[in-house]
Amino acid sequence: MNAYSAEGLGSGGVSVWTLNPGELVFELDRPMSVVRVLRLPPTGTETAHRVIIDLDTVSDARFASMAKRDVRRFAKAEADAGKAAEKAALQLAGASTSTRKVPLRGTKGHVVVIDAGHGGKDPGALAVNGGKEKDITLKAALDLRDLLEADGRYTVRLVRDTDVYVDHEDRVTRARNWNAELFISLHADAAGNSTVAGASVYTISARGEGRIDREASRNNWVIPIEDGTPQRLTGILSDLVKRETKTRSGEFAELLLPELEKAGPVLRNTHRSAGFYVLLAPDVPAVLLELGFLTNAEDARRLQSDRGREAAVQAVKRAIDSYFDRQDVRLASQ
Ligand SMILES: [Zn+2]
Repeated sequence: MNAYSAEGLGSGGVSVWTLNPGELVFELDRPMSVVRVLRLPPTGTETAHRVIIDLDTVSDARFASMAKRDVRRFAKAEADAGKAAEKAALQLAGASTSTRKVPLRGTKGHVVVIDAGHGGKDPGALAVNGGKEKDITLKAALDLRDLLEADGRYTVRLVRDTDVYVDHEDRVTRARNWNAELFISLHADAAGNSTVAGASVYTISARGEGRIDREASRNNWVIPIEDGTPQRLTGILSDLVKRETKTRSGEFAELLLPELEKAGPVLRNTHRSAGFYVLLAPDVPAVLLELGFLTNAEDARRLQSDRGREAAVQAVKRAIDSYFDRQDVRLASQ
């Protein structure tokens, strides 16, 4: 605790209060809303400002609708003023959750899950020079793993490290069970036109988002929400987690693009959205990276050469580094 932080037990509906720089958090034991706020400047020899906040008990329904409105308000503020608002919205809701997971015993560093697309009976796209997508994605995944593990900052898990087929839902389930903080699915594209070339990055589309809830409940991908959170808040918190996950996915994609541009050709409008199944985890930031077009002779050659693949995985590594640099700064400032 420092000069700017304090906390204590409350009364009359407030179970715990916490004062941090820039925020005052009340944990409530019943649905309440703010009726009135008075700010009193210092008077006489006083140096402290005083704030008087009147809270009143409201119905569950009223609380839920006000919380929803506040969440919307914070979403807008967040768009205007950055991520600080999201934290406030969570705290306003009177409970907390996080897309950060408790690390598995024995794991250290940030957990990155790499998904080599296709495999086994599913070859994926076929290259003009005879190669198969499933082999290219596996080699790239193994290279990326080696590169990340050499860093010491990451725990890397591969959805597959041999030529086996893995169901789409199992790819996501494994990533969640491993407490993935970032999920990267590696693929290589195919197009009817052999001149189309370059890498591209996909994050979940609006249409894909519509499938998240159904697939999450079908596969038991439960969003971790603190025990004892009132039922009426879990929906709001789940929505916040999903929005946060989407924001993080987009952030990573935007960090990845300039790195890919340094490493080789990229497709125009290269950050795209799609409803790919592997992007459906409600709480794991995820991107699908198409490394290039196997229907383009130059891309096919590049992705099957050690140098070309090395350049691509180096680019992904730099983006991962930047992404977690940001996360670490964010955590340090919380
Ligand atoms: Zn593919």
